Order: sequence, then structure tokens, then C-alpha cells
Amino acid sequence: MRPTLLDPLFATLTTLPGVGPKLEKLYRRLFGREDVPARVVDLLLHLPVGTIDRRSRPKLRDVVPGSVATVAVTVESHRPPPPNRPRLPYRIETFDETGTLTLTYFHAKRDYLEKLFPIGEVRYVSGVTALYDGMLQMVHPDRVVSEAELDKLPMLEPVYPLTEGLTLNPVRKAVDAALGRIPDLPEWQDGAWIERTGFPSFGDATHTLHHPTEPADILPEGPAWSRLAFDELLAGQLALALVRAHQRKLPGRGSSGEGLLRAKVIAALPYSLTPSQGRAVDDIVTDLAKPHRMIRLLQGDVGSGKTVVALLAAATVVEAGRQAALMAPTEILVRQHLATIAPLAEKAGIRTAIITGRERGKERTETLERLALGEIDLIVGTHALFQEEVAFRDLALAIVDEQHRFGVHQRLALARKGEAVDMLVLTATPIPRTLVLTYFGDMEISELREKPAGRQPIDTRTIALDRLDEVVDAIGRALDEGKRVYWVCPLVAETEGSDLAAAEERFADLKKRFGPKVDLVHGQMKGADKDAAMARFSAGQTQLLVATTVIEVGVDVPAATVMVIEHADRFGLSQLHQLRGRIGRGSDRSICLLLYRAPLGETAKARLAIMRDTEDGFRIAEEDLRLRGEGDLLGTRQSGVPGFRVTRLEFHSKLLAPARDDAALTLARDPDLASPRGEALRHLLYLFERDEAIRLLRAG
Ligand code: ADP
Ligand code: MG
Repeated sequence: MRPTLLDPLFATLTTLPGVGPKLEKLYRRLFGREDVPARVVDLLLHLPVGTIDRRSRPKLRDVVPGSVATVAVTVESHRPPPPNRPRLPYRIETFDETGTLTLTYFHAKRDYLEKLFPIGEVRYVSGVTALYDGMLQMVHPDRVVSEAELDKLPMLEPVYPLTEGLTLNPVRKAVDAALGRIPDLPEWQDGAWIERTGFPSFGDATHTLHHPTEPADILPEGPAWSRLAFDELLAGQLALALVRAHQRKLPGRGSSGEGLLRAKVIAALPYSLTPSQGRAVDDIVTDLAKPHRMIRLLQGDVGSGKTVVALLAAATVVEAGRQAALMAPTEILVRQHLATIAPLAEKAGIRTAIITGRERGKERTETLERLALGEIDLIVGTHALFQEEVAFRDLALAIVDEQHRFGVHQRLALARKGEAVDMLVLTATPIPRTLVLTYFGDMEISELREKPAGRQPIDTRTIALDRLDEVVDAIGRALDEGKRVYWVCPLVAETEGSDLAAAEERFADLKKRFGPKVDLVHGQMKGADKDAAMARFSAGQTQLLVATTVIEVGVDVPAATVMVIEHADRFGLSQLHQLRGRIGRGSDRSICLLLYRAPLGETAKARLAIMRDTEDGFRIAEEDLRLRGEGDLLGTRQSGVPGFRVTRLEFHSKLLAPARDDAALTLARDPDLASPRGEALRHLLYLFERDEAIRLLRAG
């Protein structure tokens, strides 16, 4: 149960004066959580993005149009709209000794404005200024006060992210009311740490951020924001540590054997394992033999050979008489995995099958029956594997490929299909260490750092889109030489049409030029059609494959050596890296052309330069994190995994290690969170909604 002390913070926003059900809906949208009521705590953690500084009071001559200004003006005249054109704005002409300012109101009430702006009097008005027909104007000033009320005008006001229909003033009012609801909370942070960092208390930090006295007060790297970020990080690390402690307590089941099946698979490989593949397999085999559950992340850059490691892990549990499941996010990937795995598995006597949305009818029923009977050792599938009807005889190992596309709950859903299921997560997005810690806690990690032998470096070039003709000519020459080319079409903004339309258009263009060598694959094609298109390309029947980002993950056509990425500047770096990883897989030299529309901003330039300069996925991931923030990197924004509310890793990642250490130390001393500080920390866990972890604590 949530401590009652926190109740005022978890009350819905409609308990604040001025917030009715209609506004509450808008706040839900603002907080990005439309399906749960917006609460006081959500508003308090909705931090300002900037401030309006009203301390300087320029003369009208010195006002910079486009900026927010606070000026003292004398009211000269009112110009209401003509009676027959009530939709025209209501204007009020004002002046000071250096110039004039027009105040503009739409849909305004005349008597209200006449009262607010008596002719001949001085008013202080504040708002965004603009030039209109060469005249300085201000549309709907956000503050208007008389000389007498001047001291009520806040000198520095926070600016919040908003959503349509919600304006600054009501948000500020609601925030003010919310601040009044903060109870006297116990300090949950370690005293010495607070002293060392100089962090304010939770309440003080929140007040400072919403009522800054200096613009610097609301900087993410400042003490107030850092305090809240540290709170959030500590809550996260504590929760992860509690979950892990709980999982360790659950009995696992050791799966081991002599490694005969593994040996058979290895003997069937046309190559030898790289050293890091070998180490990863050893790690996994050791984990699997232990009587508690494995949760291991296998990180390896694109093309580093994770699939075979996964197969060897599966072979280990199969040898122990149990089953494994390999789950991948797309149909294409699942088929490809099976294509890689099936021949090797067959040689080792491992029985495989596939389950996706496409398997239907008798075939599907049969697969499910055999799976339940234990006649299938390794099942490969998409999300379809989560379905209730999918039952195992004895699932021992769940392997999840490209993890960040699945939510955590989906991962758990799979784990529940067996008893003490070991988990191996494969990710081709090299996740920086900081993020692994934040999202997974102390997950064990194996890394595949070297690329398999025979990989060629990729020559990457950036080219402005206005040289498209040259690019097409060059592609023509490559096709003449028999090369295989991917042409990746851009992500298209919603307002501009669809990704698909863009791809279809490009396909039509290229087909006109190059004829039947050109093919198209996109996400809205039927599964079988997609497979067929990939197969034609793989076999060389087609040479130029126009694609949306469906080819992003995992697709393996070693003969493809050229890739064109249109509007590369619209992709995330890690995504570009994934895409580029589709080439450079064979023994021939590969080339990647990143097309962009000039002019590029500084950040965009820097990002493309990184792509040009390195193929090190880890470096790219770190840079991506630095330049874009964590959500995009993991794709969490799309997949709906809740990210951080106040923490911004580009500013706060250095707080992560202390949070982690503190969580570990705290739980070592006080595993049940029963000490006074432990009690206070429970408040913290609730505040940041990590309270599921507390339930585990109870369940013991
Ligand atoms: P990813 O890590 O991107 O999932 P894959 O497992 O799809 O990579 O492997 C990419 C390609 O590399 C496959 O064609 C696979 O057969 C090959 N491969 C894997 N391991 C090795 C190795 N040790 N030596 C040579 N080729 C390998
Ligand atoms: Mg893969």
C-alpha cells in the first residue's frame, strides 16, 4: 500500500482549482499517458524547458522582434473590429517615448479590454513581440499589470512544454497549486551524499524548478534538477536490484550435458567461431548449468554472428532434454533465422519449427501439438509465440532477438511459459554500458566485438540530394558490373505522406530506368510476398532492391555490396548503422551512400560525419546517445516502454554509478527496506512508480 503521506501527490489533477475533466484530458496528452488519469505528481515532474526573464525592461526602440519582452507603455487608443467584420482582431495602440506597440487580441471582449487598458494610463505588458507590416506588435500579451500591481509580476517565469489547447498561464496556475500539495517528506537520500553534492530536498528542488529566481536554476545539470534525476535513478536501480534479488531466490534449474550437441553443431559450421563467440558460448553454458536463472545480454554489432551463439545455447538445453524458443521481431527475420539454423540443427538432430502469424490451419495445429509434446526442440517465431495457445512441454531457454523492439512485459510473458526459464537477449544495437545499467540493471553481458573473418570495411560517403542524377548513374554502372544494391527510402514525416508512397515512387523511377532488375520490398507487403522479394534479390534474379526500413534488422544477403540511403539525416545513427550492416557481409568491397537534403544543421552534419568516420557500433551508439538522448536509441519511445520522467542521460549519466552503488549497498544492509532510511526509500519507489518492486519484497 502506498504511504498515505503521498496521497495528495497521487490525487488526480481535477482536485486542483481550475482543472476540470476537459483540461485533465489535455494533461494526459501532455504527459504522454492518455490511458491513466493525470495526477498532481505528474505535473510536479513536468519540468520547465526555459524561462521568461522579465527583469529587464527595454524601451520599445530596443525590443528585438520575436523575443519575449516586458515593456511599460501608455495606452493611446482602442481599435475594435468593425461591427460587420467581428473576426478581425481588436487592436490597442500604445507607445513610450521611443516608439509604438500594437497589442492584438482575437475574439476579445470589448468591455474586458477597455477595463484592462484605460486610455492614457500606463500598463506593463509582457509577451512575444513580432513585426507586422513593419510595426511592432504583441499578440495576446501573457501578462498585463498596472504600476500598482507591478510587484505581482513574476520577474522570472518558467516555460513548460505544452500541448494543443493547453496554454502557459493555466499550466502555471495548476503547478502553483500542485506545489502547495507537496507534503513534508522524509529524506530518502543518504545524508553524507546530500551533503557532498549539495542537493536540495525533493520539495525544495521541485519548488526551485517551478519558481526559479535565476534562469540557471532550471538547468538540467543544476542541483535542483540533478536531485530529482538522482531520485529517479536511485528508484530505478533499487527496483532493478529488488527484482534481481527476487529472481535469484527463485530456484532455477541447471541444464547441462557433455556438450555433444554443441560439438555436432560446431562440426557442421563452415567456419570456426571467433574468439568472442567462443567466450560468449562458454559464458552461457556456465550460466545454464547453474541452479539459478540466467539473464544475459548478448551484444554484438551487426553481422557479428549472434545467431550461431544462440543456436549453441539452445543446443545446450536441448541436450538436457528441454526446449528453447527463439523470438524475433519480424517475419523476415524469423524465416532468416530458421534458414541459418535449420540445416545446422538438423545435422545435430535438433528438431526445429516455426510459428508466426502466417502459419495457420492444420500445419499450425500440428506444430503446437508437437511443441506441447516435446517433439520440437527449438521453436523460432514472432510475437505469435506469446499467444496463450503456445505451450511447451518444458521450456528452458527463451532467446529474444533485437530485444528493444519488445517490451519488458513481453519478455516476461515468454518466460512464464516455462519453469525457471533462462533468458538470453540478443541485441544488435550496441547499447552503451550506461544504458544497459539503467534499463536492465546488473544483467550479465557478453559482447561480440570482432566481426567474423572475411568482412570488408565499408566505404561510406555523404552526398547532397541534388546530386541524385550522378548517384543514379553510378548505381547504373554498379548494376552493369553485376553488383547487388539496396536502395533505402526515407522515413517520411506524417504530414508529407507515407514511407510507402515514397518508396513506391522511387521504385517506379528506378524501374523506368533499369527495368526488371529492380524490385520493391516494404512493411505492408504480405509476408509471403516479402519473402519472395528477398529471395529473388538473394538469388540475384533482381539486383536493385528498393526498400523501406523493413530491411533494417538482420537481413542477410552477403552478395549485396552497395547501399543508398535516402534522407539519411532523418534516421537515428544506430538505425543507419543497422541498415549499413546489411552490406559489407561478403568478401567484396562495399560502399554506402548517405544522401541528405542540403543544407544540414550542425547536429545533422556531425551525425553523418560520425557515420562516415567509423563503423564501430559502440562508438556510434555513444554518439547517438550524446546527440539525441536515450529514448530514440533504444527505440523506447516507439515501443512504449516507460522511459525517464526527469532524468536526461546526456546530463545525468554520471549519477548512474552512484545510484547503482547506493542501491546495492542499501539492499546489502537492509534487504527488506525496514530501517528508517529503508522506509523513506519506499516513499521514493512509490513516487517514481517502481512500487512493483515493493510487492516482490513482500512476497519474499
Ligand atoms: P548478427 O550478429 O547480425 O545476428 P548473424 O548471426 O546473422 O549476425 O551472422 C551474420 C553472418 O555471419 C551469417 O551469414 C553467419 O553465417 C556468419 N558468421 C557467423 N559467425 C561466423 C564466424 N565465426 N566466421 C564467419 N562467418 C560467421
Ligand atoms: Mg541477427
